[in-house]
Amino acid sequence: MGHLDAFQDAVARVERIGEAAEIAEEVLDALRRPKAVLSADVRVRMDDGSTRHFEAFRCQYNDVLGPTKGGIRFHPEVSQAEVSALALWMTLKCAVVDIPYGGGKGGVVVDPKDLSRLELERLARGYMRAMADFVGPETDIPAPDVNTNARIMGWMADEYETIHRMKAPGVITGKPIALGGSEGREEATGRGCFHVIQEFAKRTDMKPDQTRVAMQGIGNGGYHVARLLQQEGYKIVAVSDSKGGIYSDEGFDVESLYQHKQETRKLDGVYCEGSVCEMIEHDTISNEELLALDVDVLVPAALGGVITEKNAGDVKAKLIAEIANGPVTSDADAPLHEAGVRVLPDVLANAGGVTVSYFEWVQNRGGYPWSLATVRERLEEMMSKAFTRIWEIHKSEDVPLRDAAYRSALHRIAEGIEIHGTRNWFSNGSSSG
Ligand code: NAD
Repeated sequence: MGHLDAFQDAVARVERIGEAAEIAEEVLDALRRPKAVLSADVRVRMDDGSTRHFEAFRCQYNDVLGPTKGGIRFHPEVSQAEVSALALWMTLKCAVVDIPYGGGKGGVVVDPKDLSRLELERLARGYMRAMADFVGPETDIPAPDVNTNARIMGWMADEYETIHRMKAPGVITGKPIALGGSEGREEATGRGCFHVIQEFAKRTDMKPDQTRVAMQGIGNGGYHVARLLQQEGYKIVAVSDSKGGIYSDEGFDVESLYQHKQETRKLDGVYCEGSVCEMIEHDTISNEELLALDVDVLVPAALGGVITEKNAGDVKAKLIAEIANGPVTSDADAPLHEAGVRVLPDVLANAGGVTVSYFEWVQNRGGYPWSLATVRERLEEMMSKAFTRIWEIHKSEDVPLRDAAYRSALHRIAEGIEIHGTRNWFSNGSSSG
């Protein structure tokens, strides 16, 4: 699916779910397009003296519930349409966990592996120079996303502060702790997903020690959820990265697997090379095979659009927990539902990241850092409350969990829009709507 299609797919899903939930047309109409998108040409002086131009975007999708919030992605295939789809999902996600933010997203068309460290810093600072009047602690707050990290956020915050001649740590989240970042931010997405899976297990007959999990992608999000699930007794039987996957009936030790991947940059090598390797029998599998494994829980934690109408019928897992943004396309919603596969949707399952980003911003504004224990406790509370709201809609309105999450978010956004007055209110003189 191309990016334009991905954006149209995201809007179509909001329309389908919103219409079925009888969300006011004015609310759905407000979500059909972004409020504002800035595209910019970022010029960077390369180490050899030449100049390169990078296409950059920042999208503020909807800010009815607060300043827009969302990461900046560095990827060769980023486009304005993809950034808009991601910003729409951020709008829903912030409403799902009920934090006072709208949705935004940013991106730069670049393969950061082609850049030296100095070139990367110049690009990060150039991006912020281009966006410095568009973003801000009270308007639009970026964060890391695919291929961006705490150090890059630190450079961007520094550039913003240099331009505005003041300290403004709340302009960006996911910063290094030394520059006002929050304890617990790095593990937050995985930890949030772990809580969501545990809440699901509490309400169903899923027993951790009898539950087999396959994980596509073992990056920041995937690693932490796999680690926490394993600690709780779940068996992680399959893991993959961009080069392919490994499978073992016995299950893997996530911690040693991740550490070795960090050192060797290769997943398969973990079990085959060196004395520190845990020698465990395993099969090599492809990413497509991983999605079709006979497991209980499937966690797509890498890319968007990996489960579509074409391969939805191959999924044997009973539960999909979406760490990645948009791993299941909307044409796969119905076949998965009909096959009895339940989906913990991205707007809930990966919302732990933005929740702790919100905590970071609150700490920056209050000038009072929280302990790791406080961050973890408040994250668990927010995730559990969001899950409970969604589970109640899922049960009482008899709709799949994704629809329930969207309904919860759309009702929250509708409250914010309708309180300004709708056509019905202005034309009827009625006190509601
Ligand atoms: P990451 O770069 O740390 O990890 C991505 C992982 O996916 C890596 O293990 C990589 O090898 C693997 N991968 C890449 N291409 C693949 C392919 N073709 N097949 C299988 N695996 C592949 O990224 P991340 O931060 O973990 O993000 C992963 C997903 O989660 C993205 O969709 C991102 O938008 C989403 N997400 C992340 C966060 C967060 O806080 N990290 C928050 C919300 C959503």
